[in-house]
Amino acid sequence: MYRIAIVGRPNVGKSTLFNRLTQTRKAMVGNQPGMTRDRVSDIVQWDDKRCQITDTGGLLLREDGDPILQKILQQAETAIRQADLVLFVVDVRSGIIPLDKILNVFLREHGKEYLLVVNKVDVSEVESQALQFFAFGVKKLFPISAEHNRGIETLKDEVGQRIATEKETVEREEVRVAIIGRPNVGKSSLLNRFLGEERVIVADLPGTTRDSVDSQLEIEGEFYRLIDTAGIRRKGKTNSQTEKLSVIMARKSLERADVVLLVIDAVEGMTKLDAIIGGYADKAGKSTIIVANKWDLLHRDGHTADRLEKDFRSRMRFLQYAPLIFVSAKTGQRVLKILKLVKQAYQARYIRVPTAKLNDFLSREVFEMPTSPSALREFKVKYVTQARVAPPTFVLFTGSSQKLHFSTERFLVNQLRRNYGFYATPVRLMQR
Ligand code: GDP
Repeated sequence: MYRIAIVGRPNVGKSTLFNRLTQTRKAMVGNQPGMTRDRVSDIVQWDDKRCQITDTGGLLLREDGDPILQKILQQAETAIRQADLVLFVVDVRSGIIPLDKILNVFLREHGKEYLLVVNKVDVSEVESQALQFFAFGVKKLFPISAEHNRGIETLKDEVGQRIATEKETVEREEVRVAIIGRPNVGKSSLLNRFLGEERVIVADLPGTTRDSVDSQLEIEGEFYRLIDTAGIRRKGKTNSQTEKLSVIMARKSLERADVVLLVIDAVEGMTKLDAIIGGYADKAGKSTIIVANKWDLLHRDGHTADRLEKDFRSRMRFLQYAPLIFVSAKTGQRVLKILKLVKQAYQARYIRVPTAKLNDFLSREVFEMPTSPSALREFKVKYVTQARVAPPTFVLFTGSSQKLHFSTERFLVNQLRRNYGFYATPVRLMQR
């Protein structure tokens, strides 16, 4: 997606412009210096063009209103690195001040294309004053009034032209991820890690209900949607309330997910409630990754991970297919690795095995194996076909009306898994 960053020193009107372009009131607008905001992002649709706009105005001022240059440049740098186009906003009323000059040099040094937007040109009389900004060495100026909606269309047109020249306009696939688990295992902390990651682009997207918000991430060219990020942070008043909430949350966000991160506390180990929540993920047919958090708190020797994994797995036998990763939301250790596993799981969910190949494999390597359960042979399987993906679901056509024994079914599923992978993903078997 085409990305635009709004950059400029405090109080030039970045948030007002952001709101004007996105037509939301997400960014807080205020005249008081020292007002702090978080970075705000939104995806906007102008006719058939989509782009993401980020207001980099967050945290630019200290409480006492002193600009912290370092912080501004840091913010700007991150935004610039990630953006395709920068809107550099200045204020016609204050004219050129040193901080503007510094930012201008900074932008030039980064060689990023920017449009110089001269804000607060509320009436045409001050338009001539905007000309002074040609001193910044630009060929074109965009005098606007974000507040009074002047010059905005011209600016949009200019931006829009660039989006049109984007070669890649096809929407990318987006992996929907649910972060679930019982209270205090570190779901919110993990979420904050994902969202705070510098290489990440974040946008809030409306979820299903009014108070549910999804976040979209882009990391190394891959898109992820974290489901109901507002809900992940929500907590009950009492412990039991929070526990109930965590189960409700899990069941709800599961529905929309491709991949589930089942977060557990590596120190406390796998508890009953963990297993219950994990059970929902399995039943719902979601791909699951077990994220054992708080790795930093463990006294470790070379065998800690192996030992713990064995223990955890013995307490949650139905999730054997789910990979387990030890992370620390606190230090960030291996947190980004999780998303690599998510991607892998997502791909596995959509593997489709052609019927001919499938039957070839089964008749050659499975049905005739001496180690195959004799029950399987008695079943006279005619053929097998993959009926669905996400999760991969196979249908067995047999000459028998008897139901396949649980252990035989497991054997078959394991064979399919051995041959095709289906990483982190449950495999379903049906009988006809
Ligand atoms: P949630 O209820 O699952 O969202 O859990 P929180 O994210 O609120 O975390 C619960 C507590 O565990 C907080 O005090 C966190 O600071 C702490 N915590 C979360 N992750 C880690 C971690 O990786 N290491 C350590 N040491 N503490 C953590």
